Amino acid sequence: MTTAIGVVMTECIVAGRLEDGKITGKLLRYPADPEAQEALASMPPGELVEAIAGQIDELMRGPDGAAKASADAIGVSVPGIVRAGVVEESPNLPQIKGMRLAADLAQALQGRGITAPVYAGNDADAIAAGVAATRGRLDKLTRVWTIGNGIGYGRWPFAEGVWEGGHITVTLDPKEKYCGCGGAGHLEGIMGYRAMRMRFLDLEPEEVFANAKKGDTRCREFVDLWHRALAGATASFIHLAGPGRFYFTGKNVGFLELPLLRSHLETMVRMSPLQSFSLEILPPDDETALVGAGVTAQRAMGEMQVTR
Ligand SMILES: [Zn+2]
Repeated sequence: MTTAIGVVMTECIVAGRLEDGKITGKLLRYPADPEAQEALASMPPGELVEAIAGQIDELMRGPDGAAKASADAIGVSVPGIVRAGVVEESPNLPQIKGMRLAADLAQALQGRGITAPVYAGNDADAIAAGVAATRGRLDKLTRVWTIGNGIGYGRWPFAEGVWEGGHITVTLDPKEKYCGCGGAGHLEGIMGYRAMRMRFLDLEPEEVFANAKKGDTRCREFVDLWHRALAGATASFIHLAGPGRFYFTGKNVGFLELPLLRSHLETMVRMSPLQSFSLEILPPDDETALVGAGVTAQRAMGEMQVTR
């Protein structure tokens, strides 16, 4: 049996223990109070690492609270660009930019008497890994769009690169500049929650989508643009890496209408070998990313042992 600890840090930190790729026991949340969701954004990086280490410590204790269990690997997923254990960029948790997350966490764990290899990765990639693992598709290319405050793009299997799909350019209109990163014409500048609030200063995004359903022309046109933007980005990835399955999840995935997305995608992907793509909505949950964080860490550690 292999054991791993998976940790996902987005609006809150969720951690769990995996045995043979399946969650066993309870998940831990920090902050425990769901109302304190803004807490992480204002926490200094050292405290974030300690909070994660504390959760892992608790998960590795036996029922008597004393004995330390072991883990083959620990996987931590965060939003942003993560390479070789270092958080190179994280627009939604700016204080972790530049953090040597894998090394800092391993050190904090050593201080608690826990020695296990730590792997840090991107949160959307973890969801893709989790989908692949839970559906027995670890041998296939799996791509996931996460639709939330920002737009994330995740892929399994891991491939060297940056893969910031949310910042792919989908329009040449110079007026399109609402992306959180400051770049012009980006997908997130149209689809991201923050970007929508900046575009519609008089309406919340929920109202925009509700008004569109009632037939309001301005809102209907925007909802169409929102879907066309996602279709454009997805079509680009189909033209680069091929067709296959795309999953859509995240806390705002409820805005997505698959038939509308598909109709735009069909106008953009015309070469017959590329038309065998499929689209599927996944209800957002914590477990998928957590399983993916653990599975990715185990795979990464296994590959390191093979190449050693
Ligand atoms: Zn951007």
